[in-house]
Amino acid sequence: MANIIDGKTVAQKFKNKLKDEVNSLNGHGVKPGLAVVLVGDSPASLIYVRAKTKACEEIGINSFQYTLHKNITQKELLRQISELNNDSKVHGILVQLPLPDHLDEELILEAISPEKDADGFHPVNIGRLVVGKPLFQPCTPLGIMKLLEDTGIDLSGKEAVVVGRSNIVGKPIALMLLQKNATVTICHSRTLNLREKIEKADVVIAAIGKPNMIKGEWIKQGAVVIDVGINRLDNGRLIGDVEFDGASQRASFITPVPGGVGPMTIAMLMYNTVEAAKRLLRSQESGVRNK
Ligand code: NDP
Repeated sequence: MANIIDGKTVAQKFKNKLKDEVNSLNGHGVKPGLAVVLVGDSPASLIYVRAKTKACEEIGINSFQYTLHKNITQKELLRQISELNNDSKVHGILVQLPLPDHLDEELILEAISPEKDADGFHPVNIGRLVVGKPLFQPCTPLGIMKLLEDTGIDLSGKEAVVVGRSNIVGKPIALMLLQKNATVTICHSRTLNLREKIEKADVVIAAIGKPNMIKGEWIKQGAVVIDVGINRLDNGRLIGDVEFDGASQRASFITPVPGGVGPMTIAMLMYNTVEAAKRLLRSQESGVRNK
């Protein structure tokens, strides 16, 4: 029977550590700040934004929320982002996705300064991940890596299979696993014989968005299973992409849904913001020393 990876506990441990780091930054006169930009009033986005604001309060991060009208023009939104890029109280900026159709999401994300890109979606930050010199890393995959670290597993030489190739989960987690010397296979909707690939995997990352798509009997004995999928059934229940009961009979470690990867995502957003504030302080201090 698998060990259940408790994302809530690991995330809380992380947040406690961040609180200490924020206290120490306060001692240097710095209070980390995160600006959250929400366009429109989508109920799902509002829930995410509220959860992020609450996490900021818990850790001692200043949160600046900008709720903009759903008809805001691209030019106005770009102006808002440019102001935040130049605001010294703001160390991290995130634009809540998805944006209304009339706005060019790619252009908006690229307008955020890579130095303040708390979500880690800017092409510069993705490029840095590709060359193995990450600055900001996307929160969900970074959270997965922290969960894997917490299990104590050595990823070097392991066969890792990532199912899903999105820019926010599949591709970056594959790069992060590669960075840890795993041998990585990326699967997607055109992959043939998915089952065969999963059967050989020491580590399975499922980021598909299809309930119970990966069957318990496909999982290799002792494999580590990370289920990123969040699927709401008609009865309101949330389940993952992996058949949990069957998979947990064979895996050595497995994440539940909910309570696995989910809690780590926001903790990593906080982590990125605190890291940005620390980095700025370091560069200011070295600037003073060099004067
Ligand atoms: P996307 O829809 O962007 O990507 C899904 C991926 O799954 C695509 O690459 C797609 O392939 C692949 N896929 C679809 N069907 C199959 C199939 N039959 N076999 C193999 N691969 C398939 O989703 P995201 O990456 O944004 O999210 C994935 C899941 O993770 C969702 O359930 C989402 O809600 C959840 N999520 C959870 C987070 C958390 O904090 N816990 C954060 C982010 C996401 P193709 O590219 O060929 O279309």
